[in-house]
Amino acid sequence: MENILKVGFSSVEITDCGKQPRASRGRRKYETPEVHDHLHANILVSENCEGGEFALVACDHSGIEQDESEIIKEKINGLAGIPPERVSIFCSHTHSGFDTFDNAKLAARVADGVIEAKGVMQPAEAGFGFRDVGPGVSINRRVLLPDGYGGFCIMYNNDCVIEDDRLECSGQVRKYYEMLGAKWADLEISRNPIYTDRPKDRDVWAVIFRSACDKKVLGSLVRFTAHSCVVSSKHIGNVISADYPAYLKSFVQKNIGGICLFANGACGDVRMLYRENTFEEAERLANVIGEKVREIYRDVSFSPLNRAGINCTLVSYPVHKDFPKSIEEGEKCAAELKKNVLAAHARNADVRELKRLNEEYDWINAKVERWLKKGNLQAYECIKGKFAREQQYIYFNDVGAAAVPGEVFTKIGLEIQARIGKDKCFVIGYANGYMAYLPAAEDYPEGSYEVRHSMLEPTAGDVMAETAANLAEAARSLTG
Ligand SMILES: [Zn+2]
Repeated sequence: MENILKVGFSSVEITDCGKQPRASRGRRKYETPEVHDHLHANILVSENCEGGEFALVACDHSGIEQDESEIIKEKINGLAGIPPERVSIFCSHTHSGFDTFDNAKLAARVADGVIEAKGVMQPAEAGFGFRDVGPGVSINRRVLLPDGYGGFCIMYNNDCVIEDDRLECSGQVRKYYEMLGAKWADLEISRNPIYTDRPKDRDVWAVIFRSACDKKVLGSLVRFTAHSCVVSSKHIGNVISADYPAYLKSFVQKNIGGICLFANGACGDVRMLYRENTFEEAERLANVIGEKVREIYRDVSFSPLNRAGINCTLVSYPVHKDFPKSIEEGEKCAAELKKNVLAAHARNADVRELKRLNEEYDWINAKVERWLKKGNLQAYECIKGKFAREQQYIYFNDVGAAAVPGEVFTKIGLEIQARIGKDKCFVIGYANGYMAYLPAAEDYPEGSYEVRHSMLEPTAGDVMAETAANLAEAARSLTG
């Protein structure tokens, strides 16, 4: 079994490394949260077919900042001897975890986990598969209205009717336009129902590893694409939970065995189609996904692991051309745009124009008030006109995962997958240093929540897809 690569798994609890719970976001003082279920970092260490090892770290974390990622990777390098470019840290994007961690403690804990996984490595076989989880589990929460009425993010189910695989959301859109002063019944768009209508990725992917000796499952990497916000702190208060991925991981570990690493996908515009915001609902949805993983396992064919590795590159993404060069410049610009909004209201402008002007103002105002003035690190990178993050391509035999930073729209994720090969690659989001929302180019002019919290040029998605394809190609040529 000399030419079979070895893998090892471990799981470490990281709840006690948390500092500020998400529930107390924006507050200076915060209380110790109640813990519903513990947060973990689940770890896979694999031998690299080019020599040495590489590590995957799946964290119950909303999204680690670039500096945080560097601290963890340095610690892993120092204690476990795996260099930073051979470590991929990805987050489940739980909305009921911590906003900040004790980074030194978290880094030490994760590094211990890497050492543990490295210590239990054994020759492995790998198999993979994917399944459509069917309707009713996730939705693309955005809608694009015709006739210039723009884009909306249907963040919650308020005033919506839940259908099989979508939301009828005219109630929510109506409230927005009435707030702008429109008489809803007079608008052409009020005549027809409005549905969430953007693309989504309903496939759950699983790469499963078993011992080449006794054929016991060692662990798995499971990827599903949807915001982890069934039990977000907004709904459950100051309680810690890993949300639906917690239930999904336990389902997989119980029914298949080993340690399960959960990865989220390009879910910037996708959330779970929950009926209510309860732990029971998180478990119900996770079980639907888990059953599909069980099907994958039932049908999977294992082969000895002889190709495995991780390709990494640092990518400079184009910063949005309107990103302010300083707080002062941003404030000036916001003041001008605010004047435009008020003038448009005064002359009873068409609601479409009001929406557009409001969003122009909101975009710059969010950069100044919510990012720059609060010391957001990404905003300071953008001010300098330079924003760089790692992209990686992770591969095990015939399957690969393109790991990308931040909250990427589904359409970009699907484009990456199409370029590399739909049946042999999936996308992992929230990987390594965090990056805010990256909408698809066509979503930029339509505005709404995710666009307001974006900072890159609309062409950034193309740069990301191109880079992912190049990394996959390099991996292919490396290993034949
Ligand atoms: Zn998000």
